[in-house]
Amino acid sequence: MTDQRNTKQVRYSVIIPMYNEEAVITETYRRLKQVMNGMGGSYELIFVNDGSKDRSAAMIREFGRSDDTVMLLDLSRNFGHQLAITAGMDYASGDAVIVIDADLQDPPELIADMAAKWQQGFDVVYAKRIKRNGETLFKKWSASLFYRVLRASTEISIPVDTGDFRLMDRRVVEELKRLPENNRFVRGLVSWVGFRQTAIEYERDERLAGVTKYPLKRMIKLCLDGIASFSYKPLKLAGYLGALLSLAGFLFLIYAIGVKLFTDTVAKGWTSMISLQLIFNGVILIMLGIIGEYVGRIYDETKARPLYIVRECVIGGGLEDPQDP
Ligand code: UDP
Ligand code: MG
Repeated sequence: MTDQRNTKQVRYSVIIPMYNEEAVITETYRRLKQVMNGMGGSYELIFVNDGSKDRSAAMIREFGRSDDTVMLLDLSRNFGHQLAITAGMDYASGDAVIVIDADLQDPPELIADMAAKWQQGFDVVYAKRIKRNGETLFKKWSASLFYRVLRASTEISIPVDTGDFRLMDRRVVEELKRLPENNRFVRGLVSWVGFRQTAIEYERDERLAGVTKYPLKRMIKLCLDGIASFSYKPLKLAGYLGALLSLAGFLFLIYAIGVKLFTDTVAKGWTSMISLQLIFNGVILIMLGIIGEYVGRIYDETKARPLYIVRECVIGGGLEDPQDP
């Protein structure tokens, strides 16, 4: 079994994670071909099929029949967007590696601008959204909140309003491959790696067809991964909150004793007692939950399972090469 990843050397690798994208993938392929053919360098299009239940993979196979720039990386199930990107990077051989969504919300035409910056010597060129078209108010609002919470809670600077659409130099990709962590927040890892990074700005288009694969639950997971992978601040919060609440309790005790000593009534009130009980117990449980987030991640790391499993890697032009990750 030959490892075709290493026999093929290209200038650009484009990674396209896809999960049930049959409605858009033909157009995405066409637009990408158009852009990449104009780049003046060899390239490969790595379509990572993240356990789609529709015809996405079959369609890529079809494109690959007559096109040897197409690679289909078929994962054994749905591992999630971030791991699909990771798998793509492991198989990419390009001097520059580009990650782009399958739904054409990230215009492929920007790749040429990114490559220009890369040629000027930047190692990472990420695309910053200055405007989002056609997304619900809730999505815009929650995304904006997400980036700002993340910025406030982490020490390394992760650019705001920036998704995974970016170009990375081979050096950056090699460093990323050395980071084995499980609950990956790829754009944070890219910031962490460093090197010379720059942004280009763009207006994010509407999804061409199909529906978002990031429902609220997944967005929360991504947000927690982002924060937990790059910050201890939530854990420290327990200490600060505890100190604050103890102080408040202590002050209240002094007040209650004062009332008892200097007036002929005692501080009373079951209602306030119960409320405080509920609030404090709530705070304790929330803090336990936060600790749980970290413990769960430690558990994931100790299990040291592979990040993803490849069912098959098909390289276009009639070659087939099933291989293990
Ligand atoms: N995606 C994936 N696996 C998943 C969910 C999403 O590979 O489990 C891909 C999806 O096909 C798309 C990209 O990740 O190419 C971004 O997803 P989507 O457009 O649904 O997210 P949104 O733009 O709404 O945040
Ligand atoms: Mg999208």
